[in-house]
Amino acid sequence: MRYISTRGQAPALNFEDVLLAGLASDGGLYVPENLPRFTQEEIASWAGLPYHELAFNVMRPFVAGSIADADFKAILKDTYGVFAHNAVAPLRQLDANEWVMELFHGPTLAFKDFALQLLGRLLDHFLTKRGERAVILGATSGDTGSAAIEGCRRCESVDIFILHPHNRVSEVQRRQMTTILGDNIHNIAIEGNFDDCQEMVKASFADQGFLKGNRLVAVNSINWARIMAQIVYYFHAALQLGGPQRSMAFSVPTGNFGDIFAGYLARNMGLPISQLVVATNRNDILHRFMSGNRYDKDTLHPSLSPSMDIMVSSNFERLLFDLHGRNGALVKELMDNFKQTGKLTVEDERWTEARRLFDSLAVDDAATCATIADVYRDCGELLDPHTAIGVRAARECRRSMATPMITLGTAHPVKFPEAVRKAQVEEPHLPPHLADLFERAERCSVLPNSLTDIQQFVAAHGNRGKPL
Ligand SMILES: *Cc1c(COP(=O)(O)O)cnc(C)c1O
Repeated sequence: MRYISTRGQAPALNFEDVLLAGLASDGGLYVPENLPRFTQEEIASWAGLPYHELAFNVMRPFVAGSIADADFKAILKDTYGVFAHNAVAPLRQLDANEWVMELFHGPTLAFKDFALQLLGRLLDHFLTKRGERAVILGATSGDTGSAAIEGCRRCESVDIFILHPHNRVSEVQRRQMTTILGDNIHNIAIEGNFDDCQEMVKASFADQGFLKGNRLVAVNSINWARIMAQIVYYFHAALQLGGPQRSMAFSVPTGNFGDIFAGYLARNMGLPISQLVVATNRNDILHRFMSGNRYDKDTLHPSLSPSMDIMVSSNFERLLFDLHGRNGALVKELMDNFKQTGKLTVEDERWTEARRLFDSLAVDDAATCATIADVYRDCGELLDPHTAIGVRAARECRRSMATPMITLGTAHPVKFPEAVRKAQVEEPHLPPHLADLFERAERCSVLPNSLTDIQQFVAAHGNRGKPL
């Protein structure tokens, strides 16, 4: 499988190189040159497989030529073996023909574990094969950091540095990062805000001199391998509920458009999906596009669903690429223009094409809490605020009551107790494997908001705690 850039100018790469590259050199995002397509019979034959075997069938074409089948199988078995529920992604029924797929049984209680547990293991596989090491540098306002650290904790060939804004992430989120101890794990609390953290990461990718020739890898949501891993659970859900013989609708709590883009790919690979609902909070740039063809940058509104607090949606470019007939030059023009003006619209027929599949809704904090309360009262399921937004949008945008509607349950409610408290329902509890989280020892370095201090820290600790 070869991968091409959405801006049409970077060289095509194989899976291994895409995994290590992150962003393409022309500023675009990598996508498969040709999407694999499965027949209905083929998909139907996967019913009843354990999750890791289904994952192998769905992802195999994407990694073809880069990793041996036996190695990939072993990695997948190990990856999904760490999930705390045997079904890995169990479905819970909320109402007639309405479900939540619980994607929060991984080590850090959010769906990001599905991709980052795999990403860490794949990186280690390829780096070990090459006899190389790599430094991962990332910024987090919450979920991504802990999932990335958990995914890399056992990697021999990787040192991971995660920056978070000092005293500005929740205690659960901080502890999920800082209680993972290892000489290749480095938590840095920056005396600044999340944007400061992100700027320093960007600056470090732009000028890598401080790394003395070591490789720098990105694990943010534009990494292709993360999207790839998320395709699998759409197949998994459909196979549980009578697919592929009948079609499904999905509602997806959305920020950077990675998770829902995976659903779009599942459909293009042959899985019958008749509707995808983009569920956002007040940060509704995607809803403004889907409802009125206006992808216009706004200011940031902090919400009770912080993992979807975004101003622009980084994976949306991948959809634009398809909507424009995979013409990289057109996408480059649109994105260059967006960078200058903060505005983007597409031609009517392209927008209409998107709307054949996608609907959207923006849900504010009050409606989020009301939905948590409603669902708890009606069926006893305690939703986290992101998932509640998904359920609300699913209900308001639903096209057909005869088609099963599945909302992606993106996080465990214990990660976001503020919203749950405001909804005035039961207090969420940590699951058994994290029950002692508040007693565990923490390790974290507090550093000033200064690029040179960060880079010196990485250089001094980037080789399993020793200097590079
Ligand atoms: C990351 C995240 C999202 C948004 O996912 P995208 O792929 O960025 O759209 C939604 N909910 C939770 C809990 C998350 O952690």
